[in-house]
Amino acid sequence: MSVEAQDLNLLANDNRGKHQLEAGFDLLGWDEVTQGSVLPSFEGDASDVAHKKSEERTYSGYNSYTATVASWRVIKPVYNRDICIDCQNCWVWCPDTSIISRDKQMLGIDYDHCKGCGVCVEVCPTNPKSLLMFGEYSDLGESLADWPEKKKKEEK
Ligand code: SF4
Ligand code: SF4
Repeated sequence: MSVEAQDLNLLANDNRGKHQLEAGFDLLGWDEVTQGSVLPSFEGDASDVAHKKSEERTYSGYNSYTATVASWRVIKPVYNRDICIDCQNCWVWCPDTSIISRDKQMLGIDYDHCKGCGVCVEVCPTNPKSLLMFGEYSDLGESLADWPEKKKKEEK
């Protein structure tokens, strides 16, 4: 089924994601977009968008940044600042650009857009890791208290 541009605009501007899922909202499927449709990612002039921080950009309703995938997660990455060496591995490898980093310092996780895949944990090089997966509803303080100790090198 194709959807007229006006309908598409209404659907996309309504901040798709968790809110719509909770409301029983009928999400627009990729195969429902009319061939040849142009879906601008940003409002207005976007020529300098690469120099702006994500929160300063004027995302259009079509941009996936306006939707959340938080409801997909059953486990979530938890960040432990005390161990992190700011190597930026997690920022480079996260497939959803959900690691928040400023001036090469890891700040935390964008839980609106993190889908809980665990890639960031896999690539974290510290011992113990500075990111670990915990249950979606786990408490931050309890997770940090449960953090594993540094592993000793195996003797040869
Ligand atoms: S769990 Fe996956 S999506 Fe979430 S921050 Fe880590 S790499 Fe990104
Ligand atoms: S990969 Fe680990 S050590 Fe490197 S910035 Fe991310 S959390 Fe910190």
